[in-house]
Amino acid sequence: MDKVLLGALEAGGTKMVCATGYADGTVAERISIPTTTPDSTMEQVAAWFEDKGVAAVGIGAFGPTAVNSADERFGHILETPKTAWRYFDMLGSVQGRLGVPCGYDTDVNVACLGEVTFGCARGLTDVVYLTIGTGVGAGVLSNGNLVHGNMHPEAGHIMLVRDAHETLPAGESGCPFHASCLEGLIAGPGIAKRWDGKSAGEMAGDAEAMDLLAGYLGQALATFILCYAPQKIIIGGGVADHTPIVGLARAKCAEQLNGYLVTPEMADLDTYIVNNSLEGRQGIMGCLELARRALEA
Ligand code: ZN
Repeated sequence: MDKVLLGALEAGGTKMVCATGYADGTVAERISIPTTTPDSTMEQVAAWFEDKGVAAVGIGAFGPTAVNSADERFGHILETPKTAWRYFDMLGSVQGRLGVPCGYDTDVNVACLGEVTFGCARGLTDVVYLTIGTGVGAGVLSNGNLVHGNMHPEAGHIMLVRDAHETLPAGESGCPFHASCLEGLIAGPGIAKRWDGKSAGEMAGDAEAMDLLAGYLGQALATFILCYAPQKIIIGGGVADHTPIVGLARAKCAEQLNGYLVTPEMADLDTYIVNNSLEGRQGIMGCLELARRALEA
């Protein structure tokens, strides 16, 4: 199995990362293709894989998308703001062209799978993977299974209590749907809106700014811990990677919970709430695992 060449497709809203690799998580080749129109983009993706002779492909797609295999829209992109991609059959476009088994899940679920299979969550059965970048998304592993539910968790949009020092006008955030959701307050667009177009990285040295973001993240983490009872929470994405907010959010989260939960995990927050461990490869490696599973199914 380790010798079988597998395909991995991280299908994002701005780029498609295609890779080949093996069941042990090793990446052989990779390429990034800009996400433009579905026809042009997926033609390039399929052509790249066609040349490689992969035995199966694992796809981690941007959402919202149908990930429940019993759903008749399984593998389709749903009501995305990127209107050209709305109702596009992502899975069908790859599987139809390549004729090999394909696994399909959300981008954040495959990143979670990557960490569970190859990274810092190996052997765990209950894990939350959070990405904080241009948006916020959560992949959830519960009882050893990636959670799909009626669509998939959209935990990036949970509502938060605004900080007294918040400078975004009431009713405004970086999320077009919610005035005070996690994504609206801590993802790239909210950060740019609050701080004169600046990025998270540019604000990383500003202690007050980081305290504000960490407070929001801490609120969200407390909610995830209460709802999902994870054994570990892993955080990736540009905002988390380029600022100290993960470390700062540990104390904020503990403050929120106020001693309510007494678990070994809560006693060791440095190993409970962590940055991603695979240096940005968690998504691609998770796709390889998804491909391996598709081949074995
Ligand atoms: Zn929102």
